[in-house]
Amino acid sequence: MTPVDRRTFLKGVGIASVASVTSTAAFASAAAPGVVLPANAPTWKRTPCRLCGVGCGLLVGIEGGRAVAVKGDPDSPVSKGLACVKGYNSVQALYGRDRIRQAMVRRDGKLVPAPMHEAYDLVAQQIKETIRLHGKDSVAMYGSAQWTIADSYVASKLFKGGLGTNNLDTSARLYAGSASAGLRSSFGLDGALGCYEDMDHADTFVLWDINLAETDPVLFSRMLARRRANPAVRIVTVSTRTARTEYAADQALLCAPHSTLAIANAICGELVAREWVNRDFLDRHVAFKRGKTDIGNGAADGGLILENPINATWSEYVAFLTDFTPDQVQAVSGLSVANIRWLASLYGDPMRRVMSVWGRSVNQDVRGTWTNNALYNIHLLVGKLAAPGNGAFAITGQPSNGGAPHDAGTLTGTLPRGRVEDEADRRRAAEIWGVPVERLDPTPSAPLLSMFRQLERGDIRFLWIQATDPMMSLPNLDRYRRAAARTGAFVVVSEAYATPTTDVADVVLPAAMWFEREGIFINVERRAQYFQQMVVPPGDATSDAWQMIEVARRLDLASLFPYEPRSHLDVVWDEYSRFHTDSASSLPPLAELRAQAGLQWPYVDGHETRWRYSAEHDPAADSAHGAFDFYGHDDHRAWIWLRPQEPAAEVPDRTYPFWLT
Ligand code: SF4
Repeated sequence: MTPVDRRTFLKGVGIASVASVTSTAAFASAAAPGVVLPANAPTWKRTPCRLCGVGCGLLVGIEGGRAVAVKGDPDSPVSKGLACVKGYNSVQALYGRDRIRQAMVRRDGKLVPAPMHEAYDLVAQQIKETIRLHGKDSVAMYGSAQWTIADSYVASKLFKGGLGTNNLDTSARLYAGSASAGLRSSFGLDGALGCYEDMDHADTFVLWDINLAETDPVLFSRMLARRRANPAVRIVTVSTRTARTEYAADQALLCAPHSTLAIANAICGELVAREWVNRDFLDRHVAFKRGKTDIGNGAADGGLILENPINATWSEYVAFLTDFTPDQVQAVSGLSVANIRWLASLYGDPMRRVMSVWGRSVNQDVRGTWTNNALYNIHLLVGKLAAPGNGAFAITGQPSNGGAPHDAGTLTGTLPRGRVEDEADRRRAAEIWGVPVERLDPTPSAPLLSMFRQLERGDIRFLWIQATDPMMSLPNLDRYRRAAARTGAFVVVSEAYATPTTDVADVVLPAAMWFEREGIFINVERRAQYFQQMVVPPGDATSDAWQMIEVARRLDLASLFPYEPRSHLDVVWDEYSRFHTDSASSLPPLAELRAQAGLQWPYVDGHETRWRYSAEHDPAADSAHGAFDFYGHDDHRAWIWLRPQEPAAEVPDRTYPFWLT
């Protein structure tokens, strides 16, 4: 396989540091050489791209109140002037002729236009009446990490602090829940260990079943740039199929679906057997844990797994790894013994910095959390993480993935920077929100799919959906479409375009998109990025957050939201920051976010934190614990979990012949 260089790669995926001009514009960018701009050149305004979790910086050309062109932001620490084809074409999504411009309510089976105030009145009335007749847990909300931080925070405050129900979940549950759970179980806290800058320092990249060249091409181009400048750098893929990333890799290894966990354990076994482990790091910074093993495959209603970690010893861990010899794992994975040993040698080489990257294929496995743990185990055994070029990084897919679902309290068991089960977390939320602590329910609600099953059974009777399209994306669609259309179920959908989900709605509220309002996304490297309102939304469209606030005011919850439309982001960010006052989570002030192209939290005394848990880089890490302080756990250690390989829940057969990876 011949490695391609960055220039060839960029051509192939339509990524470059030039501008894209929308179909309605007649000029090009100043960045394009030789082009003379017309007199009515646009005003360029900065925003993070909203189309994936990478969070590239874009400059959007505004002319006549309209977004007319896009180019990469050279000041962006994420993308340094680059963008991919999705980013360049992203603003066209604002200008479809079929944008939803006004509210609609269902009458006699048909959605018909209605004034916004009537739609808000109807939504509030339905919430009130449903709770009166069936209790607080008969209402629910389903959102996503397409939400800005303000949208997410207002949803959490309204449902958990206002209505007193934990029936709030996001689509991030489906594709990123295991990445979050992996971080929390291995390190005690959510949020990436390192940052994209690791790509500028690593000597070896191991890409675990992620087609980075096509899903996150700006990041992949950064790896290629690193290799081009340093010919000793190697890119290795371990994947279930051959895609563009494999063609660019120095070594592409194929393995069977659902075998990453076994391979990771085999690598750990080799590191131990060949004495390539970092004994000092292990002694000072690592503990060993066993967890539950009889967890089924998530099909049961409820679906929450309460982990009860049991201490294990080094000897027990070594004995556990004897089930994962290269010979045994070759049989499971199809990866040869020689290649398993070679992969272990890459991690074990004390002279090379190693970065592992994985994404949806690993995270969306039925043992996604365990596989995340096993990949962290490799790095913990050799002490290669949370330092420049040594990192283990789970890439997830939506623009607020570093904040909205994990930190703003938009999962069924979470509060802003807290858990609903934790009394201290509930007390803090109640105090900041100005509500009685008794209103906050200490029991997590059942997660997303159970929520839809409850809709089917009639336990949930009111569901508000924002920033996601579940009637397109859920499994068992016919079942949940019937549930949503069932008599007695009332579904509200905030959307910008007609979708299969608006088809089942009783009320549709027109949603403002992206920079039609101001907002903040937090990407997967913990970087908060602000964008101002640049254009006016069409018709009556308004932000998801403001729609919730309008309804809250009709629910006698106005005191929770004493905000003004123009300034509510300032107040929301201020409140949200009050949940993040310690040095492990502190957020940048909004004034600084407005002035800069993104800042990473924890942000302390004007400094970003690029590598967490490192005493050298992280102000929350106490050097009394050594070079690292894994303060997320009370024992100040990272945890190596003994996670067994289990057969896949289903394998292809004649009726269903494909693995979906
Ligand atoms: S890689 Fe993601 S964030 Fe960057 S331009 Fe493409 S879609 Fe946008």
